[in-house]
Amino acid sequence: MPRVGLFGGTFNPVHLAHLRAAEEAREALALDQVVFVPAHLPPHKDAEGISDAEHRSAMVRLAIADQDAFSVSDVELKRPEKSYSLYTIRHFRKELGAAAEIFFLTGADAFAEIATWHRWREVLPMCHFVVLSRPGHALAKPVDVLPAAFAERYRPTGDGAYAMKEGARLIFLPITGLDISSSDIRRRLHEGKSVWYLVPDTVIGYIEQHGLYK
Ligand code: ATP
Ligand code: MG
Repeated sequence: MPRVGLFGGTFNPVHLAHLRAAEEAREALALDQVVFVPAHLPPHKDAEGISDAEHRSAMVRLAIADQDAFSVSDVELKRPEKSYSLYTIRHFRKELGAAAEIFFLTGADAFAEIATWHRWREVLPMCHFVVLSRPGHALAKPVDVLPAAFAERYRPTGDGAYAMKEGARLIFLPITGLDISSSDIRRRLHEGKSVWYLVPDTVIGYIEQHGLYK
């Protein structure tokens, strides 16, 4: 059965820490595929009439071009409104089948907000969740982020992970700490500064070509 990672984010723009996080998760969890899923943001069209969403998706496509195990899905971008992980996971569950092992990848900062996600109590049992370490965001066990009564549904599996009786696992995966963020990259670009070695070369080319983040 396929083992598939879903990596959601705004990717505005995608950077090297996203790519390295996906690569370390792929290797550690023996994933066959990691699907990058750019999130819907309130639409805004640039001078060429191209939406931010199309640019964000195009940049991810360029960034992952050399890794066959990575792909990008526009499922959230095609929906007219902000999409919820619940529907995204459902979409991939339907596409991949009940036997597929789905691993939803999130950075520790993103997972720290889990209890604010739409219908999160239903979302967590739907697939495995992988919490990727991120500099400045320490998370190590369910109770660090979930209400105690819900955290109790998880039992340690002995290998550093946790599992619900329904089978869904919660895995805290330490990865190489790279303190890179899209907001810092946008700030540097606004200030006319270099983002070389923070962002893939091909993505820098795309940003320059389309005059993004000026
Ligand atoms: P922004 O500053 O705009 O929020 P970001 O760098 O956090 O951008 P996102 O698109 O918000 O990037 O993140 C997508 C996913 O990647 C999230 O789950 C986030 O936690 C994770 N992520 C982003 N940067 C890192 C990083 N440096 N280390 C680990 N995980 C990261
Ligand atoms: Mg972020």
